[in-house]
Amino acid sequence: VEYYLDNIAGKAHLNAFLEVWADEARAQADAVDAKLASGTAGKLAGMVIGLKDVLAYQGHTLQSSSHILDGFKSLFTGTAVQRLLDEDAILIGRQNCDEFAMGASNETSYFGPVRNELDPERVPGGSSGGSAVAVQADLCLASIGSDTGGSVRQPAAFCGVVGLKPTYSRISRYGLIAYASSFDQVGPITRSVEDAALLLEVMAGPDEFDSTVSQQPVPAYSQLLEPQAHYRIGYIRDTLERPGLAPDIKQATETVIEQLRGQGHVVEAVDFPYLDYMVPTYYILTTAEASSNLGRYDGVKYGYRAPDATDLASLYKKSRSQGFGKEVQRRILLGTFVLSANYYDAYYTKAQRVRRLIKEQTDELLRQYDFLILPTSPTTAFRIGENTKDPLAMYLADIFTVQASLAGVPAISLPIGNDQGGLPIGMQVMSGAFREAEMLAFAKHLT
Ligand code: GLN
Repeated sequence: VEYYLDNIAGKAHLNAFLEVWADEARAQADAVDAKLASGTAGKLAGMVIGLKDVLAYQGHTLQSSSHILDGFKSLFTGTAVQRLLDEDAILIGRQNCDEFAMGASNETSYFGPVRNELDPERVPGGSSGGSAVAVQADLCLASIGSDTGGSVRQPAAFCGVVGLKPTYSRISRYGLIAYASSFDQVGPITRSVEDAALLLEVMAGPDEFDSTVSQQPVPAYSQLLEPQAHYRIGYIRDTLERPGLAPDIKQATETVIEQLRGQGHVVEAVDFPYLDYMVPTYYILTTAEASSNLGRYDGVKYGYRAPDATDLASLYKKSRSQGFGKEVQRRILLGTFVLSANYYDAYYTKAQRVRRLIKEQTDELLRQYDFLILPTSPTTAFRIGENTKDPLAMYLADIFTVQASLAGVPAISLPIGNDQGGLPIGMQVMSGAFREAEMLAFAKHLT
């Protein structure tokens, strides 16, 4: 704990932590020491973990890096966090992220951008940017983030660490601030596949507080990391042919493909007709869900209340206008529009249908192949400010991560090398729903 506290203090310029729970972490460490001495310590004894500012932890500030939740403290601890505590993890602090997890660069945070440790002029990715940098810069052993359309995987790729998005419904969302409820998943960011497996094993499983969570038993993922000798692996041909794909990323991915073939695995290019529809479908559905989920922040029940309101309507308007940042407002407007009476069928219903097609086709590919592999992001970490003027370009860069989110299947981003500028390159492995054990074993083989 002291080691990480020193690192956090020494690297405060990265802006990864919004709050550090130093005394509590020390007290937890003492308690864990005692348990270790008596042989009663849990599976995560001694693991020092940071939490993205979207996870409820009783008595602690919870803000989603938004002004609108100023002063809000959670009244309860969410399921995933409680399970970490039950296995004797030590929680060290709350991590910066994009406001309401909306973003891919950690630049929409009310608390300012997080900086990539490798080059502080560059973004860490997002929305779990603080969580990824914290692992990259050794400010904690692991972080728990959330992934709606890539927010664990893409920052992991930009920071050279491992990021896992489990199957939708594998981990309870109780105590996770909602962005788009049919996509949101809690996921670990770690230095190794082993740690990701262990954290998934602890956090996953049935929970009476989330009716959508799966009842499927949780395998002991951390004990199942032995890879098979032969896999059938697919990659979508067009993902490597896209004009926006950085040449170094294409090359690094092709190198992995060649290595796998050399080891005797079958690796085949496949066609997927819906690649261009993934980002529009994702943004129609997630903004629709967000516009509904964020309706609760009305200046009355939580956090910030505009001081200059004159009546109820002006209280709502002013609190929301002053409390939400620009990107969040853009998404609420977009989501309200696609759900409005005249446009519902043209946008929302249509997007639901397209999601179904994407899911069916993805599931079919994942029956034919053990895994799909694809880049995590078309570029490596870009400069702070470089993409902020063009939200559409920023959305389009989510092209490779939203497929697993639309289909609800698990995916993991792994570091596979660096580009010529020394910036990390990530590659994803995707598997069929609830096949995390196989996916993690293969991921371990790749790292
Ligand atoms: N960049 C994507 C978005 O802004 C993903 C965010 C996320 O997974 N929370 O929606």
